[in-house]
Amino acid sequence: MSEFKSNGVNNFNKQTFSDEDEFEDVSIDCIDCGGTFIWSSGEQLFFRDKGLKNPPKRCKPCKKAKNERLSAIAAAQAAGIKQKIEVAVNCAKCGINTTVPFYPSQGRPVYCRSCFLAMNPDTLGKAPE
Ligand SMILES: [Zn+2]
Ligand SMILES: [Zn+2]
Repeated sequence: MSEFKSNGVNNFNKQTFSDEDEFEDVSIDCIDCGGTFIWSSGEQLFFRDKGLKNPPKRCKPCKKAKNERLSAIAAAQAAGIKQKIEVAVNCAKCGINTTVPFYPSQGRPVYCRSCFLAMNPDTLGKAPE
């Protein structure tokens, strides 16, 4: 690196994580919004210190949005596990009161577990959950 490259942007593959402690700001195209953002030298240093190998793919707002999406999904999954669906139904065959872990579709008969298994012996061991 004998001369300073002012047009060294988008060139980070050659420069990133070299042994040099000097980083140049790099412009990256965000994969979500397509906008260009600056991966600053300080952030590159941070990435290197963290042992991260890949440069960021998203601008800050998109990264934040993605993290929010992921945590919303995680929260929804966690809530889904806690609030397991139980719908009270009457078995279409024996009439017993039972619950099923899904919302039965309109007009479709719902059976209790034992009637279901009696009618579908093949599914023994892999009963619908
Ligand atoms: Zn973006
Ligand atoms: Zn039944």
